[in-house]
Amino acid sequence: MRLSRFHLRTTKETPADAELVSHRLMLRAGMIRKLASGLYTWSPLGLRVLRKVEAIVREEMDRAGAVEMQMPTIQPRELWQESGRWEKFGDQLLKIKDRKEAEYCYSPTAEEAVTDFARQELSSYKQLPVNFYQIQTKFRDEIRPRFGVMRAREFLMKDAYSFHITNEDLVREYRNMHAAYSRVFSRLGLDFRAVQADSGAIGGDASQEFHVLADSGEDAIAFSTGSDYAANVETAQAAAPGPRPAAGEDMRKVATPTQKTCEEVAALLGIALQRTVKSVALMTDDGFVLALVRGDHMVNEIKLAKVPGLADYRLASEAEIAEYLGSEPGFLGPLNAIKPIRVVADRDVAAMADFVVGANERGFHIAGVNWARDLPEPDRVADIRNVVEGERAQDGGQIRIVRGIEVGHVFQLGRKYSESMQFTVLDENGKAAVPAMGCYGIGISRIVAAAIEQNHDDNGIIWPEPMAPWTVAICTINPKGDAAVNDAAQQLFDELQAAGIDAVMDDRGLRPGPMFADIELIGIPHRIVVSERGLAAGAFEYRARRAENAENLSREQLLARLA
Ligand code: ATP
Ligand code: MG
Ligand code: MG
Ligand code: MG
Repeated sequence: MRLSRFHLRTTKETPADAELVSHRLMLRAGMIRKLASGLYTWSPLGLRVLRKVEAIVREEMDRAGAVEMQMPTIQPRELWQESGRWEKFGDQLLKIKDRKEAEYCYSPTAEEAVTDFARQELSSYKQLPVNFYQIQTKFRDEIRPRFGVMRAREFLMKDAYSFHITNEDLVREYRNMHAAYSRVFSRLGLDFRAVQADSGAIGGDASQEFHVLADSGEDAIAFSTGSDYAANVETAQAAAPGPRPAAGEDMRKVATPTQKTCEEVAALLGIALQRTVKSVALMTDDGFVLALVRGDHMVNEIKLAKVPGLADYRLASEAEIAEYLGSEPGFLGPLNAIKPIRVVADRDVAAMADFVVGANERGFHIAGVNWARDLPEPDRVADIRNVVEGERAQDGGQIRIVRGIEVGHVFQLGRKYSESMQFTVLDENGKAAVPAMGCYGIGISRIVAAAIEQNHDDNGIIWPEPMAPWTVAICTINPKGDAAVNDAAQQLFDELQAAGIDAVMDDRGLRPGPMFADIELIGIPHRIVVSERGLAAGAFEYRARRAENAENLSREQLLARLA
C-alpha cells in the first residue's frame, strides 16, 4: 500500500466537543467522521483497524467451534412480541414502519431472530449443541450517544447464541466462550478483566462482562485484592427533572457539600459491590445515607437510613430526614414505601440483598448494590464470603475500585427465549425438550476506541500491533526526486510483505516533520526512514512507536527486528 494512493486526512486541531482522548484521536487521525448523533462513517483508515479486530474475533469464534451466519438488521414486530421485548426493551429499540404500515425494529441484539432460525432449522437433540454467531450492525437509540464510537447508536457487534439440551452443556459452552473471549482480548493486546455482571434487559441467570481497564471507563469495577473476585458496579442516572423538582435533583442540592464518590463510600463502609439496582444515593459526612431505588422509568422505592459512625444503622423517619435536609416533609410524599437499607454488619448473607451505596463521580452517577441474588447458591455464598469476609478476615484483601469499558458480555440465558417462542427439539426419548440458550456479545467497534484509551501518548495513538492499520510505515524522504530512495523503499516493502508483515509506504513527498507527525498520530507501531543519507551509510533509520530514540540498522538487522 502506498499512502499517495490511499485516503489519509489528519488534522491538528483538537475537536472541541470530543471529551475522551480516543474520540479526539480518532477524529484527528481521520478514522471516523460523524454523520449524525451516534452515527459514524468509518474512513478507509478506520475501517482497516475495525476489520483487524473483526478478523481476530472471527478466528477465535471459529476456533471455539461457533459457526458464522447472518441475520437481518430490520426485524418484524410480531417476532419481538413473541418474546415480550417489543414493549419491554424500552426506548433504545428503534421502531420503524414500512409503506404498508407494518411495524419493524432495528435489531439492538438478535435473540428473537436466532431463536426463530433455530426453531426452523433444529428438530433433534442430535443437532445440538450448536453456537451460531454473526458480526452485524446493531442499532440502539441510546439516551446519550457520546464518546464517538464508544457509545454510538449504530455500532458493530459480534453476537453469538448457543443451544443446548442440558443446563450442564450450557455451562460448558459458557466457559468455552469465556475462554475464547479471554483469547480475543489477550491477542488484541488489551489490559482487561472479566467481572460479574448484571444480566440487564436480556435476562437470565449467570453473566460476566469483559472490561478494558481505563480511567475514562463508564463502569466502576470492584475487586478484592485478596482473591480473583471482581464485579461491575453498574451506574445509574438520576431521575429526569420533572415539573416538580425530581427527588434526586433536590437532594443533590441540599447534600452537595457532603457527597462522596463511590470509592469513598465503599471504602468507608468497608463493603464490596456487586450487582446493582438503578438507584440514586447520597452519603453524608455524618453517615447519613439516602437512596432512591428506581425502576426503569420511575422512582418506585425509597430507602433511607441513618448510619451513625457507619457501624450500625436505624431507620430515619420522614420528618427526621426532612429536618435534616431542611426541606418540607411533603417532599418525600410521593415516594412511598420507606425501608431500611441493610448494612454489612448484618452477617446474614441473604440480608445483604439491596444494600445501597452512594457514588457520585460524574455529578450524578450513583450505584446501588444488589448482592448476587441470582447466582446459583454455592457460588453466591462463596462470592460473598470471598469479598465481604475478606475485609474482615478470610482472603485478607481489600476492596479496590477501578474503571472499565465493557467490551464483551457472556450470558447464560436459560430457556427464556426458547420457552416464550415455543422452540422445542426431540430429545433422546423422542420427547419434546425446550433447549437452553446462551448468548455472547463483543462490541467490535467499541474495542477500537477502548484500545486507544489504553494506548496513546501526546503525539497520538499507539496501536497494539494486532490491530494497527499497518504494522510498519516506510517513510521515504524526497522520493520523487530520488529514484534510489524510491527503489530501496519498494524493495524493502516487498521484502516485508514476503515476510508477512503489513507495511505501508509513505510516498506522499511530505517533509519529515509533518510525515512523522502523521505516522505517530495514526499509531503505526514501527517506523523506518529511507533517505539518501541513510542509503549512503548502508543503514535504515528505525524507531518503535514507544521508543525514545531512533537507531540505525542494516537491512538484515531490520528484518530480524521486525520478524
Ligand atoms: P453498555 O452497558 O455499555 O450500555 P450493554 O451492556 O448495553 O453495554 P450488551 O447488550 O451487553 O451491551 O451488548 C454487547 C456489547 O456491545 C457490549 O459489551 C458493548 O461492548 C457493545 N455495545 C453495547 N452498546 C454499545 C453502544 N451504544 N456503542 C458501542 N458498543 C456498544
Ligand atoms: Mg447499554
Ligand atoms: Mg452493560
Ligand atoms: Mg452488557
